[in-house]
Amino acid sequence: MIDLELLQHAVLDSRDGITIADAQAEDLPLIFVNPAFERMTGYSCDEVVGQNCRFLQRGRTEQARSEEMRAALDQGQGFSQVIMNYRKDDTPFWNELSVSPIHNERGTVTHFIGFQKDVTQRMLLDEQLRSRNRDLESAKKALEELVTLDALTGVYNRRHFDDRMESLWKISTRTGETLAVFFIDIDHFKAFNDRFGHQAGDDALIQVAQTLAESFQRGSDFLARYGGEEFVVVACGMEREPAHYFAERLCQRVRELDLDNPDTTRGTLTISVGYSVVMPREVPNAQAIVAQADDALYAAKRAGRDRACEAPMAPRFRRAASGRDSAS
Ligand code: GH3
Ligand code: MG
Ligand code: MG
Repeated sequence: MIDLELLQHAVLDSRDGITIADAQAEDLPLIFVNPAFERMTGYSCDEVVGQNCRFLQRGRTEQARSEEMRAALDQGQGFSQVIMNYRKDDTPFWNELSVSPIHNERGTVTHFIGFQKDVTQRMLLDEQLRSRNRDLESAKKALEELVTLDALTGVYNRRHFDDRMESLWKISTRTGETLAVFFIDIDHFKAFNDRFGHQAGDDALIQVAQTLAESFQRGSDFLARYGGEEFVVVACGMEREPAHYFAERLCQRVRELDLDNPDTTRGTLTISVGYSVVMPREVPNAQAIVAQADDALYAAKRAGRDRACEAPMAPRFRRAASGRDSAS
């Protein structure tokens, strides 16, 4: 058996706070605290002996946590917790507390021994790291948005459109769903700018972008600013007839904005839309669909603007569609 005097020195010289509470007396009063506890808390041994150690919490520890500790002690069990404690001068510190029961030879719990370590520095560093991580996360998010979003209108930019279009084309070739691409160009927008100024032009671009974004039916649809006063919408799984109504609705909603543009036939700001609905496996690549929709847009312009035109179907797709028609 180890020398008792040595044990006594170990407890008295420990750098960690050590407390002993009487488990058989009412409310578990302390019967001993070591000098490290006195240094850590500012209380002397004489001041605290006879009291339950919860005075260190000042009644400010969350209820669930103190009930958890009390329940463990009631059942004669130990526990480990990091809790906020308060020194005699009321300054807070994080206490890494570990309490163990001491049993007599009959197995009865006679005392609890508590080890207390001031881990305030570590907790502050952890919090600093967590907060830095949060800052980094939000910086990363802001950067990602900068890379994918158009600064003026807040919708996706051309770069994101190119990436997304490529992957949607690949997915749709596998799923066998149609892919509808709508090219949208504001009519006589140069004249609008010349007449009302660049700032008014920017405001109009924002309003048109919002209107187009609000016209979506499904989360899988997406809108991007393709460049200048041109936008593009992609909708997965949209068939030709709904695509026709969708394109018409885009034109109508921009008309309803009722922004003056004296150079258009209507006298208000209008758009032209060219769209293409394809079975992705019928076209060689994503750019081919985009090129078809772009051609259709210029057909809409040539036909007088303020309207939607569909791209002529690719020959193989036309065969597939007519096969479906004759079967129905
Ligand atoms: P069209 O009906 O044939 O499309 O005629 P348009 O005048 O719209 O076409 P054009 O390509 O000649 O002119 C596009 C104009 O769009 C040129 C420029 O003044 C304007 N524009 C492009 N980007 C911006 C922008 O970011 N802000 C503003 N205010 N205007 C822009
Ligand atoms: Mg244009
Ligand atoms: Mg234009």
